[in-house]
Amino acid sequence: MTGRAIIVGAGQAGSECALRLRALGFAGEVMLFGDEAFPPYQRPPLSKGFLAGELAAERLFLRGEAQYREVGIGLHLATAIGALDTGARTITTTDGTTHRFSHLVLATGARPRRLDLPGAGLAGIHHLRGIADVERLRPGIRPGARLVILGAGYVGLEVAAIAVKLGLAVTVLEAAERVLARVTSPIVSAFYADVHRAAGVDLRLGARPVAFQGNGQVTGVRLADGAVIACDNVLVGIGAVPNTELAAGAGLAVEDGILVDAAMRASASGVYAIGDCARAVSPFAGERVRLESVPNALEQARIAAGTICGGAPGAPEPPWFWSDQFDLKLQTVGLGAGRHDEIVLRGAPDSRAFSVFYLRERELVGLDAVNSPVAFNVGKRLVGRGIKLDPGELGDAGFPLKSLLN
Ligand SMILES: Cc1cc2nc3c(=O)[nH]c(=O)nc-3n(C[C@H](O)[C@H](O)[C@H](O)COP(=O)(O)OP(=O)(O)OC[C@H]3O[C@@H](n4cnc5c(N)ncnc54)[C@H](O)[C@@H]3O)c2cc1C
Repeated sequence: MTGRAIIVGAGQAGSECALRLRALGFAGEVMLFGDEAFPPYQRPPLSKGFLAGELAAERLFLRGEAQYREVGIGLHLATAIGALDTGARTITTTDGTTHRFSHLVLATGARPRRLDLPGAGLAGIHHLRGIADVERLRPGIRPGARLVILGAGYVGLEVAAIAVKLGLAVTVLEAAERVLARVTSPIVSAFYADVHRAAGVDLRLGARPVAFQGNGQVTGVRLADGAVIACDNVLVGIGAVPNTELAAGAGLAVEDGILVDAAMRASASGVYAIGDCARAVSPFAGERVRLESVPNALEQARIAAGTICGGAPGAPEPPWFWSDQFDLKLQTVGLGAGRHDEIVLRGAPDSRAFSVFYLRERELVGLDAVNSPVAFNVGKRLVGRGIKLDPGELGDAGFPLKSLLN
């Protein structure tokens, strides 16, 4: 409970871990380093209300800077850590200042994956990870402007929903044969594809962009079949890669994420990793997984703080996620899609309120709930509990799901 805890990465996970250390009574020094100029903030609104101009940047901040000071957390913004020595137990900032630590938490997050095509350096090609990215993209979000979005994952579809509502001409290019292919089942993919098309999005599946065109500024995206889609701006939303360079440079075990055990311990003593940069043992997957979600970042932050303070981690919460598009709230729980042997649909997609249960040997391994908060809340308490469920009951919209919790 003493010594110096250093947290690298002042995002959702890093901030929570620092606050949690204090809440658990950690009596030593706590230093939180972040390379962005802003205090820790929430990223989900970046592709939702903040992009739409409905929220000021300050509304994204998790706490005011003074609140960190008040609980004795040293917040060091605009300060990147460039080196880690796990033997000497030191970190060094990119401007050359070295700090010793007793406990080090790596919470360095992830960055957008780049598409290495000819013309990738043209102005008007955007990525979306931080406030600064939205500030660059926002002038292009105006009625009549043409936006091409590469990638029909959550971020791409959320931005498409906002942009088409604001009167832009939106084209979404997805290389796979369905949207959200990495994260959900064909039923849910088909539903979201229909919703976007009905709203006016030009959604093209199986699309292969081969080059960006333009002279200084992007003016089009060329596809493998020779077609060129004219545009004013492009958003590349093809996933994220974890920021693991600091860890790898220090010799920590890294494999698409910093490898950690269920207590968030990395491969060197006194070093932990949490959030988007970590690949952790998950009881819900039976293997190590790297998740990119706020609930995961918060849960892992709490576990790491608990481990540092010598406590037991407590019962793990199943992974969950949400996505807001148009009037639809999608809430996903578990890691079910892809790990199931049976799918049960409850309600009709046409009604814009339905849920999809993913079962393996009749146990719930995951759930997608669209505008169905009751199904989501029940699902969250049943996933991974090893309870055999009756597919007939789950699929019967008249059957009270809450009775399954008794
Ligand atoms: C546009 C967008 C929409 C999203 N929507 C949702 C959603 O609807 N629901 C949901 O659950 N999740 C959503 N997410 C994912 C969620 O925001 C992330 O999972 C979460 O932010 C992860 O927190 P983190 O602390 O691990 O990483 P981050 O929040 O990325 O924080 C890491 C911080 O560390 C900094 N850093 C990296 N390296 C260094 C270094 N060497 N020195 C100092 N600082 C460093 C980074 O710059 C960053 O500030 C969304 C993400 C994005 C980008």
